[in-house]
Amino acid sequence: MSETNGASNFIRDIVASDHAAGRHGGRVVTRFPPEPNGYLHIGHAKSICLNFGIAQEYPGGICHLRFDDTNPTTEDPEYVQAIQDDVRWLGFDWHGKLFHASDYFDQLYNYAVRLITKGKAYVDSLSADQIREYRGTLTEPGKDSPYRDRSVAESLDLFQRMRAGEFADGAHVLRAKIDMTSPNINLRDPVLYRIRHAAHYRTGTTWCLYPSYDYAHPLSDAIEGITHSLCTLEFEDHRPLYDWVVEQAESPHRPQQIEFARLNITHTVMSKRRLLELVGKKLVAGWDDPRLPTIKGLRRRGYTPESIRAFCEHIGVAKRDAVVEMQLLEHFIREDLNKRAQRAMAVLRPLKIVIENYPEGQVEQLDAINNPEDPSAGTRKVPFSRTLFMEQDDFREDPPKQFFRLAPGREVRLRYAYIIKCVGVTKDPQSGELTELRCTYDPETKSGSPGEQRKVKATIHWVSALHAAEAEVRLYNPLLTADLAKVPSDHDWTTYLNPRSLERITGCRIEPSLQHAIPGSRFQFERLGYFCVDSDSSPAKAVFNRTVALKDAWARIDKSQQTR
Ligand code: ATP
Ligand code: MG
Repeated sequence: MSETNGASNFIRDIVASDHAAGRHGGRVVTRFPPEPNGYLHIGHAKSICLNFGIAQEYPGGICHLRFDDTNPTTEDPEYVQAIQDDVRWLGFDWHGKLFHASDYFDQLYNYAVRLITKGKAYVDSLSADQIREYRGTLTEPGKDSPYRDRSVAESLDLFQRMRAGEFADGAHVLRAKIDMTSPNINLRDPVLYRIRHAAHYRTGTTWCLYPSYDYAHPLSDAIEGITHSLCTLEFEDHRPLYDWVVEQAESPHRPQQIEFARLNITHTVMSKRRLLELVGKKLVAGWDDPRLPTIKGLRRRGYTPESIRAFCEHIGVAKRDAVVEMQLLEHFIREDLNKRAQRAMAVLRPLKIVIENYPEGQVEQLDAINNPEDPSAGTRKVPFSRTLFMEQDDFREDPPKQFFRLAPGREVRLRYAYIIKCVGVTKDPQSGELTELRCTYDPETKSGSPGEQRKVKATIHWVSALHAAEAEVRLYNPLLTADLAKVPSDHDWTTYLNPRSLERITGCRIEPSLQHAIPGSRFQFERLGYFCVDSDSSPAKAVFNRTVALKDAWARIDKSQQTR
């Protein structure tokens, strides 16, 4: 995957110089550590591309997939499976290095016993509220718990009984003994273990005691011999604690935590809590709803792994949070599909045309180019006949100044076919609505013949009425009407869901070659955009998702930024 061997960034630089200096014994081992409490989204893809991408740049480099599953009440094997599928679909492989924080529950417990024995941890019996109170604030130091000086023997005894299930949730916790006056609140005797009488999806009811993230994560890294532990910026203040835990563990491996900025995208949601809310309240069709920025949603929408990797490479990694425009992601799928997607003709809102001088019953099979960007894609036959459908939008009875498409008395070219002229319109006598256009064609102007040279102002797409199949097409607009970062936190964010985020159009007409396209296959509908066959599609009724429209707003933005 050459595109991941991309531009330098500060993390690649650190890893490269560590590798050159022979640190970590010349090994490069990274990990991607999702919590299996939801599906992956495009933000995770950034982390996946970074972690797997860096590892594969080094001989013997490897990236582990580790489920950070220390929270029994929110985790589910459904998510474990979906996450593995998504990482593979994105094009990465953990080469058998699949782990779980829960694999280490015994080791973590034994480390904790050692910490207590060394006087580095104690069982505290304050309530959660009291612990918060004693912790102090950013401006005030914390206070020692009255239980801080409990004897090692007493803490050991309590900790064992916590494990044995003698106490209710919240009765005691295990805390590191570091410094209640530290300017870094994370070092004020952080909680290492909590009692939770809850079944875990892997360990069942073996445990009623679960480690905190700040304790389990650095130890999992150390156990696995991770060299560079890449995480998002909110963990920067936790790094001294990460280092403390690793140091206390006296592990031969000293992983280094490095933080980078989260990916945020405009007009969408990336918080798992909010995604769960959308799915749980059925405000969307599921985790793979094509409006969501989940990997499953993007995939169903028609995104390719290549386009997502190219996007992640382009945005790079930085130390400062930034929000990326959705148009940038769209730019990358358009670029990719432009090179690869087969062209086809489809009419979303059909308007019937009858070509009066074309013989009844005659059908011509015209040659259409599959992909002008890729001559090896060849050509296909498209049937042409006396009755066709064109796009309603391509006709105006009373055309405004800049409108160059079909109008009474005007000519346009039908793509791959002939020049036609509109000689009349038929309307419903009751409603006055347009029902069909009467046209004539110029037989001399067939595409590929010398008469093709005759110029008209516009070329439009069409399908043969007799041959076309019917389809449903789903158009997608932004999920949100506002950027949540700008929405006051006391507002119900779901009121900013865009009621027009999904537009279903039925009765669309597609050229015959599209009728049996298999779910997941992608096309460019000429002049309309890129479309992907949806999983709801069946031989009886084709369903297409619009991945992205043709117009590239980003190219414009990019250009205007360059010329500024
Ligand atoms: P939570 O807040 O529920 O923990 P999370 O988004 O951190 O959710 P994890 O499953 O813990 O989800 O994430 C796995 C990895 O993906 C972490 O290393 C995390 O830093 C990274 N990650 C998550 N969201 C983003 C994002 N928006 N941009 C970049 N990396 C991300
Ligand atoms: Mg997390």
